[in-house]
Amino acid sequence: MLSLKALDKTYDNGVHAINNVSLEIPAGLFGLLGPNGAGKSSLMRTIATLQDPDSGSMRFNGVDVASDKAALRRQLGYLPQDFGVYPRVSAVELLNHFAILKGLHQRGERREAVEALLQLTNLWEVRKRAVASYSGGMRQRFGIAQALLGAPRLVIVDEPTAGLDPDERQRFLNLLARIGDNVVVILSTHIVEDVTNLCPRMAMIAKGRVLIDGAPQAAIATL
Ligand code: ADP
Ligand code: ADP
Repeated sequence: MLSLKALDKTYDNGVHAINNVSLEIPAGLFGLLGPNGAGKSSLMRTIATLQDPDSGSMRFNGVDVASDKAALRRQLGYLPQDFGVYPRVSAVELLNHFAILKGLHQRGERREAVEALLQLTNLWEVRKRAVASYSGGMRQRFGIAQALLGAPRLVIVDEPTAGLDPDERQRFLNLLARIGDNVVVILSTHIVEDVTNLCPRMAMIAKGRVLIDGAPQAAIATL
């Protein structure tokens, strides 16, 4: 469970990107729905401890995040909106490399983890191809494989379905829904169907504020 309490953030240019946000985010897939500029990336960067809020607090499984950011980072898988990929390097090489950075030093254990993630994301057949040559959908699935290295308990995925065709979108969302019962998975999107079809819980934000929060059908009915 991730608890956000009265989070607030105003940038130097005066944009009030996070406005008194309080949310209880349980394990499972949680949809963060909002139009462009709503503050989704700002909130996700804050949760990922890449930027500090001006005020408010966060707790992950009962532990105050500000007092031990390293503890949260060890449990975090973060897929930013536009993640770069290295030219010419294959998926299996990249995952091995990131697995070492994540502390999977034992070769057998690392190989097992990388293979399991390539299977989960349906990239096993194309593991030796350069990620830079992948289609948009394949690239996002690779991003999830990378984010899941080291078995994170908090997974943050920022606008992953933008630009994907409907089949790839569905495939990607099904993958997110399979990540695991005891993992908090936060999906940000501006596409209503992304949250109504698969997320048991959601929040809608606009102009930095939470407008609604709950089960998608009930929440959207109140609009
Ligand atoms: P979303 O992810 O929902 O599109 P963002 O969090 O990216 O929303 O942006 C929310 C608002 O904050 C927008 O008005 C955006 O221009 C502004 N913003 C985002 N990041 C910064 C930043 N680093 N500095 C100044 N303004 C920012
Ligand atoms: P999104 O809207 O999808 O969240 P953006 O394209 O707004 O993403 O943001 C990309 C990067 O640019 C982020 O690091 C964000 O902090 C920064 N950024 C966004 N808006 C502004 C802004 N108005 N001023 C300065 N930096 C910004």
